Amino acid sequence: MVTSGIHPQGKARSDRAFVTLATNPDYATGAAALFRSLRRTGTTADLVLLYTELPDQTVSDLSTLGIRAVHVDLLPTSHEFNNLHARARLHGVAPFTKGEKPPFHTPLDNFAKLRLWQLDYARVVFIDADAIVLQNIDRLFDYPEFSAAPNVYESLADFHRLNSGVFTARPSQATYDAMLARLDQPGQFWKRTDQTFLEAYFPNWHGLPVFDNMLQYVWLNLPDLWRWQDIRVLHYQYEKPWENHAKADSLRVLIDLWKAHAGDGPVPDPRDLPLPPGAA
Ligand code: UDP
Ligand code: MN
Repeated sequence: MVTSGIHPQGKARSDRAFVTLATNPDYATGAAALFRSLRRTGTTADLVLLYTELPDQTVSDLSTLGIRAVHVDLLPTSHEFNNLHARARLHGVAPFTKGEKPPFHTPLDNFAKLRLWQLDYARVVFIDADAIVLQNIDRLFDYPEFSAAPNVYESLADFHRLNSGVFTARPSQATYDAMLARLDQPGQFWKRTDQTFLEAYFPNWHGLPVFDNMLQYVWLNLPDLWRWQDIRVLHYQYEKPWENHAKADSLRVLIDLWKAHAGDGPVPDPRDLPLPPGAA
């Protein structure tokens, strides 16, 4: 690959890939659980990790899962852009009122997801490193660019917005170049980083079923929507299942499921798990 800012190891084995991103060891912990869960679905697509800075040992541990590690640089955005999207500044002007972002979350790093448009695959499904896959989702490769599920975790109003934790894409250097030109304009502030940007860049985004990106707060806020047999991707937005956090007790069933997927042992059949309190 001759394009700049991206350094893949090895060759693609398939023309399709599930891709995630980890810019620090915490998200590498998440990525390992995600990859293990994807393997359990029997997919034949490549599993790709985009990473910026990780210890060599972390990368080689992840490589034992048979994944393809692709070193990428953060995007070549301007100083002004970087300052506008710095964690302290973003949290100050656009506070998160619904949940807590972990201390290891750096908003600017989110934009590195866009590097996947530089990959040598025909079709890609991106999944956040804080998600696990509970059933085969290879059918998502047949969905058009750009498909994503709604950002549902509180109310009907959520259906207006997409969640960028799961989406479909067709890599293309031309698309990547056009995205970067649009992304970094003088004074441009993307309040929810890549998510706000992708929504603006693909205003006619295609909707995926909510079950392809079930957000953990649905367990707390919309229990009637919870159907274990339908959930294909479970996404731990806000607080992460590998940290100690204030909502851990009320999300215990989901956290235990994540831990099972992160380990080597058997994983439970989700249909045997309890429903959230208050579910019909
Ligand atoms: N990410 C990362 N480093 C960061 C922030 C984010 O690698 O400092 C990646 C990681 O794949 C993560 C995704 O970007 O899952 C989006 O961030 P996060 O999942 O924490 O956001 P949320 O789903 O809580 O909105
Ligand atoms: Mn996430």
